[in-house]
Amino acid sequence: MHVVILGSAAGGGLPQWNCRCPICSLARTESGRVKPRTQSSIAVSPDGERWLLVNASPDIRQQISDTSVLHPREGLRHSPIHAVLLTNGDVDHVAGLLTLREGQPFTLYGTAGILDSVNGNRVFDVMAADVVRREPIRLDYAFEPVPGLTVTLFAVPGKVPLWLEDESMEIGAETETTVGAMIESGPKRLAYIPGCARVTDDLKARIAGVDALLFDGTVLHDDDMIRAGVGTKTGWRMGHVPMTGPGGSIEALADTDIGRRIFVHINNTNPVLVEDSVERDRVESRNWTVAHDGLSLTL
Ligand SMILES: [Zn+2]
Repeated sequence: MHVVILGSAAGGGLPQWNCRCPICSLARTESGRVKPRTQSSIAVSPDGERWLLVNASPDIRQQISDTSVLHPREGLRHSPIHAVLLTNGDVDHVAGLLTLREGQPFTLYGTAGILDSVNGNRVFDVMAADVVRREPIRLDYAFEPVPGLTVTLFAVPGKVPLWLEDESMEIGAETETTVGAMIESGPKRLAYIPGCARVTDDLKARIAGVDALLFDGTVLHDDDMIRAGVGTKTGWRMGHVPMTGPGGSIEALADTDIGRRIFVHINNTNPVLVEDSVERDRVESRNWTVAHDGLSLTL
C-alpha cells in the first residue's frame, strides 16, 4: 500500500493567510525552522496506479500539482484519482471538491451524514451528478473504493462541522459526522483519524495491530490557541484531543500495538511544528512522527 500525506496542516494551513503568530511568521522565512504545510488530505493506492483521495482540502490543486503520481497519465484528460472519501464535513476537508469539477469522473464516498453536508449545498453541484457519483457508506461496512483497497468507516468522538453548529451540538458524540477510516490492502492496515475528540477503549481496540496510524495532531495542549493568544477555543471545543496533558493521545495510545505513529492535521499554533523545539523532541521521543507535506509511506 502506498500512502502520501498531501497536506499535514489543519484548517487554515501554515502559514495561515491572516496569521502573524510566531509559528506562521517562521513559516514565511527561509530559516527552515518551520516547513510550510497545506491543509489536511492523504492519497492512498494499492498499486501506485489507482488512487483514493481521503479528504479534499482547499489546497488540493497545489497538492495534486506537487505530487507527480496524481498527474494525468493518458489521453487528453485523465486522472489517476478514482475515488474521494470524506471523513467529516469540515471546510478543510470538503472545499477542495470544488476544484475537482471539469467533468472528470470519480466516485465520492462518505457516510450519509457527511454527504448530507455536500448534498445540502448547491455549489457542490459543479460536480455534475452524471459524472461524479455520490455513494453513501454505512459505518462498519467494508467497501472497495479502488480495486485492491478495502475501507471501513467507524465513528470516533467528535462534533459536527463548525458551520453546522447550533444549540443542540454535542461535543464528543460518536456519530457518523466524524469518522475514522481503516484502509486495508492485503495484510497491511492503515488507520486514518484526522479528527478525534477523545481516545476511547473502543478506539484503541479498533486500531490495535495497525501498520500505521495517522492521527489528529491539531493541538499539543488543550489550550494551545489560548496560549498563542489567537483564540479562546480549547481543543475539546473544536473536537480535537490534545497530544499531551490529561487524556492526551500520546499517553492514551502508549500501550496500543501500532507500527508507525504519525500526527497529521496539525494546527498552525502547535509548537511541535518548530523543527528544533523541545516540544518536537518530546513528541519524537515517544515514537511519534510529526507529518510534513509529501511524507510518503509504503506498507
Ligand atoms: Zn498562526
